[in-house]
Amino acid sequence: DWPCKYFHLKGQCNNGQMCKFSHAELNEETEAIVKKVVMMGKMMMMGKMMMMVRRRRRMAKMMMFVVNVCDDRWADEI
Ligand SMILES: [Zn+2]
Repeated sequence: DWPCKYFHLKGQCNNGQMCKFSHAELNEETEAIVKKVVMMGKMMMMGKMMMMVRRRRRMAKMMMFVVNVCDDRWADEI
């Protein structure tokens, strides 16, 4: 079964027993899936941040500070 990301990442799931995803303990396979989901989430976050960065130069500096990324490649792109 596909693991429930809310249950496994946040420790709770609003759907409870009605949840269509698995609340069973993670095994190697399902743990890999959860990690993949987390990675995808982070990539999407980064994507959103990049879009914001492109839109607002002032935000860009702040974001660079937040994520601690400040290399010239980025500066050129913005
Ligand atoms: Zn759930």
